[in-house]
Amino acid sequence: MAGNVLIVDDTPPVLKLLKDILSAEGYKARPFNNGELALRSIAAEPPELILLDVRMPGMDGFEVCRRIKEDEKLNDIPVIFISAATDTDDKIKAFEAGGVDYITKPFQKEEVLARVQTHVALHRSRQKLLETQNALRKSEQSLKIAQAVAQLGHWEMDVQSGELSWSDETYRIFGFAPQAVAPSYEAFLKLLHPDDRERVASHIETAKQGNDFDIEYRIVLPGERVRVIHGKGALVSFPGQGRKTEIIGTVQCDNEVIGVIQDITTRKEMEWRLEHEARTDALTGCSARRYFLEIAQQEFARSRRYGSSLSLLMLDLDHFKKINDTHGHHVGDLTLQKLAQVCRVVLRQEDMVGRLGGEEFAILLIETGSERAFEVAERLREALATTDVALDTGATLRFTASIGVATVAADDAGIDAPLIRADEALYRAKNAGRNRIA
Ligand code: GH3
Ligand code: MG
Ligand code: MG
Repeated sequence: MAGNVLIVDDTPPVLKLLKDILSAEGYKARPFNNGELALRSIAAEPPELILLDVRMPGMDGFEVCRRIKEDEKLNDIPVIFISAATDTDDKIKAFEAGGVDYITKPFQKEEVLARVQTHVALHRSRQKLLETQNALRKSEQSLKIAQAVAQLGHWEMDVQSGELSWSDETYRIFGFAPQAVAPSYEAFLKLLHPDDRERVASHIETAKQGNDFDIEYRIVLPGERVRVIHGKGALVSFPGQGRKTEIIGTVQCDNEVIGVIQDITTRKEMEWRLEHEARTDALTGCSARRYFLEIAQQEFARSRRYGSSLSLLMLDLDHFKKINDTHGHHVGDLTLQKLAQVCRVVLRQEDMVGRLGGEEFAILLIETGSERAFEVAERLREALATTDVALDTGATLRFTASIGVATVAADDAGIDAPLIRADEALYRAKNAGRNRIA
């Protein structure tokens, strides 16, 4: 359709003439002979353009126009004034009232059509622009909300100029209020944990050459726990309409590194906690069997590399079954906890206690030779034998343990060999009467 036009004029022949001119060109033309009726129709079905007579009995054209301009829903409809008066005063008042154009009577058909066509087209393109802007604003808004919910930020870096932009969520992850500072690469580097700085910077450098990256790093904010960030980035080339362009092949491109970042601190802390739980025996707080054996093998390799000595103790509670049978399982558990506690007191920080199962424990003595290992084992045996377990009844319980000692030898292939020797020594201690070391 050519356009939806509303015409207001109190002179019937003029009204008819205008309607005929427009209808003949395919416009939908709605004629009205007074302002009040026209206003009602405009509100009910807004036209794309209004042709408005200035001089009318009752409400004149200026007043009709002012009312339209006061209405937020209607004020972008273009109004073209029509008047017999050649008075320039009327023309000025027409524009002041919000008119976009002015036609004087008598008019020529071609002039009316030309002006109507121009302003309908202008109005339509303005409407389209507004719709596009609204859609864009809405999708930007949705993106912002989605990023905030996901705690996902994004950033862009112009490869040629180094110019950076950060999304609101990126600012938040970096500990700033959105737009509080100008985004800068130096400010970003300063936030990074010193141990991670070089690695992150080199990934961003190679991204400029077209290598994607997917990394984790830490940022340190004053007075806060360290944040763990998951960052991904890639080089993106936009066919160049932009300002800074570079020729790639034969295509002009804007090159940008685009990255996303996500604060994964909470997830990481959960992972670390689960990992710690999997490594730790819940009852005694000692290392769990698998983790102990893993570390023992690593320490074996390390002692080989540096030629340092390494010893192992294998420890088993004596007659533990009897403690359980006499005092109950709960007291058995208390005894195991007490044993672990005594080990922690007697041993050094770097020594490691693992619960291999039941009431059997292994102890890794770092940088410790045979002689000192026997001393430690004896000290531990004695400490255990003189420890009281407090019972609910107020009474106390004593227990003993037997300990086998082994030291890594030059021809051991792995940690298993000294573990087996420590186990054999433990059996000898048991057979020799318990509460002793071998
Ligand atoms: P020995 O001096 O020869 O080592 O005798 P023992 O009774 O200590 O050895 P035995 O292997 O016959 O019995 C070990 C007992 O330890 C049997 C088992 O019920 C108990 N036990 C294993 N794990 C736990 C635990 O987590 N808590 C408690 N309370 N008892 C446990
Ligand atoms: Mg036992
Ligand atoms: Mg046993």
